Amino acid sequence: MSELRDECGVIGIYTTDPAVDIVEETYLSLYALQHRGQVGAGIAVSNDGAITYHKDLGMIPEALPESELARLGNGQIALGHVKYSSGNRPVDHENLAPLVMRYIKGQLALGMNGSITNYHTLRDELNQGAAIFQSNGDTEIIAYLVARARIKTATIEEAVQQAVSQLKGAYALTFMAPHKLIGVRDPMGIRPLCYGKIGSSYVIASESCVFDSMGGEFIRDIEPGEMLVIDSEGVHSYKKDHIEKTAFCIFEYIFFSRPDSVVDGVSVNLSRQRAGRMLAQQHPVEADIVCGVPDCGIESAIGYAMESGIPYATGLIKNKYIGRAFNDRKRNSEYLMRIKLNALKNNVNGKRVIVIDDSIVKGKTSRHIVNLLRQAGAKEVHMRIASPPFKCPCYFTSDSTVKEELIAVTHSVEEICSYIGADSLGFLSVESLRELAKENRLDLCDACFTGNYPLDVSDTSREDKYSKQIENK
Ligand code: SF4
Repeated sequence: MSELRDECGVIGIYTTDPAVDIVEETYLSLYALQHRGQVGAGIAVSNDGAITYHKDLGMIPEALPESELARLGNGQIALGHVKYSSGNRPVDHENLAPLVMRYIKGQLALGMNGSITNYHTLRDELNQGAAIFQSNGDTEIIAYLVARARIKTATIEEAVQQAVSQLKGAYALTFMAPHKLIGVRDPMGIRPLCYGKIGSSYVIASESCVFDSMGGEFIRDIEPGEMLVIDSEGVHSYKKDHIEKTAFCIFEYIFFSRPDSVVDGVSVNLSRQRAGRMLAQQHPVEADIVCGVPDCGIESAIGYAMESGIPYATGLIKNKYIGRAFNDRKRNSEYLMRIKLNALKNNVNGKRVIVIDDSIVKGKTSRHIVNLLRQAGAKEVHMRIASPPFKCPCYFTSDSTVKEELIAVTHSVEEICSYIGADSLGFLSVESLRELAKENRLDLCDACFTGNYPLDVSDTSREDKYSKQIENK
């Protein structure tokens, strides 16, 4: 149960079949991406270029009520989005997606997962050109770049290519032009993006679990730097001639993605089980049961149990029925954690328990989990973590954790063990990370564990003056 925030989730659907209820298809597909963002959700639909949309704060049922979906009507193209916050910028209504804009060529909608590392430079440049912003998010910067490029280009594809050539960072983008659906993945392939079909509709999505959950067909991952365009003539791919360096986010396997997704050829479920098996080899301990912290620790716990021969048992129960209020950082985190997780006394009372979690970021959640298990009667609690110590902030996701908050920066493993109150603590080694996703032919980003950032992050100021301007209004 990582203390990192999730990502965002994007989806785009294109159909030529008037019988398809595209809003309903987008709405249902979005549920498969709810784990990537629980702060807000939105859907935009294009009917021959006329865009209607609705977006709001909250999880999908709260943000997208039936009454608003009915108002959207039907169309040929739709974008869906689930949102977490972007960096230190607060989420308010203006920062929700899809972003819908009017410009010289009509209407355009955008969805994004990721983070632009040259946000401040681009925004300063646009401000010098008298740009007027409604939000403080990355998406609006990209919208401006596309609109500016489109004045001189013959097609929307060229404008999108010109705009993304100015971006640095990690991104998976969806664009809805009047008659085209476009998906773009960043040149290093840091963020995932794939496409497939649901019935007769073409779909671009953050994760392949969308296709399984909708009875659709996964076709393939969109490649690093690739732009995919879907229109009435079919699917068109625009790839870069040369990709210098790739850096897929290893944390997608550890935490961000759903276990039933296959990302860049690697099953997330299998990758987590491998982490558990390697943990059992690297940090064996005698115990009566192995349990996992829901959701992401479960598969690794199963892997640990398979490798060690120690029985797997459910030790912790997660409350699945919590909504937006529980993502509010201002709420008392002690209460939040109590409401989110509970120990299963029958299974842990009097036992030596190995508990597996995906990561330790600040340490408070782990301390709470150990305490819960002890209160439920566990005789010993041995914590194992399916990733290495988290030592550097991520500038390529929506998380806003700063270095000083990371417990592994200021504490040794022994000190962290003492802080969380466990009998022993073991992390997966950095050297094991490649093994988690060995079939992925892309190089991996492991910067949050090693500090080896694949991109220059010097422009990524944690002091966000544009957010302050909005907050101070
Ligand atoms: S720094 Fe960590 S979380 Fe961020 S992209 Fe790299 S591996 Fe993923």
